[in-house]
Amino acid sequence: MEGGYTGRHVNAQSHLTDPQGIIKNIYDAIVIGAGSMGSATAYHLAKFGADVLVLEQFQRGHTSGSSHGETRIIRFFYDKSFYTELMKTAYAEWRDLESASGKSLLFITGSVGIGAKGNPYGRATRQSLDAAGVESEWWDAAQLGKRFSQFRLTGDMEILWQKDTGFLRAAECVSTHLQLAEQYGAEIQENTKVTNVDWQTDVPTVRTENSQFRGRKVIVTAGAWAGTLLAELDLPLTVTKQQVCYYQPTDSKLFQPNRFPVFTEVTPDGEFIYAIPAFGAYDKGGRVKIARHGRGQVISADTPERTPDAVYIAHIDAYVQERLPELGKSTHTEVCLYTETPDEDFIIDAHPHCPDLLIAAGFSGHGFKFSALVGRMMSELARSGKTGFDIHPFRIDREHKISSGIPRLQS
Ligand SMILES: Cc1cc2nc3c(=O)[nH]c(=O)nc-3n(C[C@H](O)[C@H](O)[C@H](O)COP(=O)(O)OP(=O)(O)OC[C@H]3O[C@@H](n4cnc5c(N)ncnc54)[C@H](O)[C@@H]3O)c2cc1C
Repeated sequence: MEGGYTGRHVNAQSHLTDPQGIIKNIYDAIVIGAGSMGSATAYHLAKFGADVLVLEQFQRGHTSGSSHGETRIIRFFYDKSFYTELMKTAYAEWRDLESASGKSLLFITGSVGIGAKGNPYGRATRQSLDAAGVESEWWDAAQLGKRFSQFRLTGDMEILWQKDTGFLRAAECVSTHLQLAEQYGAEIQENTKVTNVDWQTDVPTVRTENSQFRGRKVIVTAGAWAGTLLAELDLPLTVTKQQVCYYQPTDSKLFQPNRFPVFTEVTPDGEFIYAIPAFGAYDKGGRVKIARHGRGQVISADTPERTPDAVYIAHIDAYVQERLPELGKSTHTEVCLYTETPDEDFIIDAHPHCPDLLIAAGFSGHGFKFSALVGRMMSELARSGKTGFDIHPFRIDREHKISSGIPRLQS
């Protein structure tokens, strides 16, 4: 694969028979997991003419991982400037996907970032936007009220307006990447759990309950299951249970994407809240999504228990009552998983002992917006062993800082 693919049919998947007579397929690339990262990786690889096999333990579009649901925030603003820089290409990748598929997947609403005057997260965020040449504006409460009368603010707050923020249609993005990957010839096997990846063979071997496949490159995009699949690496990944609440306002027009922004808030208690305007279901009026970003209950990815926590719902309802009273009470909640690294930065790297085994994991509750770009990065790494993007902060062997001291709002 060094030097890239020369075309679909030149690198055609080969079939070998081992001494026991079992057919072994050799693919250019095997992608493990069909969530946001795996679907985008499969798309980029297949587009470049690779023979790609995607193995997904559940059905595509399942709701047991991290990429389901209607929406995810996309934004430039980050307190770490390397994310802001990468987002320049990530936005372009999403627009390319829209052109390739003919679907609208990315909606721009602008965002307001609310926090107490001088809060360190707001300062750091503004700094990275400025460093990347991305426009933003400080507003005061009066300016916010003039533009978005839905908010009730108390205390001495400051607001960072960023016009390019918006949201992605999450589940639709994943299914679109998969559909296009298939159109380019990728094979997707659902309900096929990978039980082991043997990278010590000449060509890495991927075993499932009933079969085995060989891939010149194997890419692990297994979300909350990555730690188990790569147990020998002892990756610093923690899986947590997360919940989002949905609201159906009486006057839904007030919360449509053209009238209401994405918003984030570092509350006076140091909590991180985010919201996405009304979108999807609830009979065309859509529903507003609000949640707290933070370390949830630590669980195992295989725990089937996904019961919403009533105390959490009451807490978010109380916040909404104060900040956005017209939203009323939540009508529905959804449970999802974060896979967190100690410093909340991703892991994008090759296995330390096997350059043919690539890993994209630990997206720490803020990876979705990057997935179209991560797919491109993984495809470049698979094809040539390198990528033009700065993935230095995502190395496996970096020192995992527990905290930078700056409160962070991801999502
Ligand atoms: C509540 C919530 C809100 C979020 N909000 C945002 C946001 O606003 N903006 C943003 O950018 N990000 C957000 N994120 C984060 C983002 O959604 C995730 O970072 C991203 O979806 C992770 O994708 P993934 O492909 O790594 O994981 P997943 O989507 O979980 O995909 C991994 C896939 O691998 C499969 N798999 C695992 N093990 C195996 C195996 N052994 N064999 C076969 N298949 C296997 C799984 O079944 C799964 O389908 C949010 C996450 C949550 C939970």
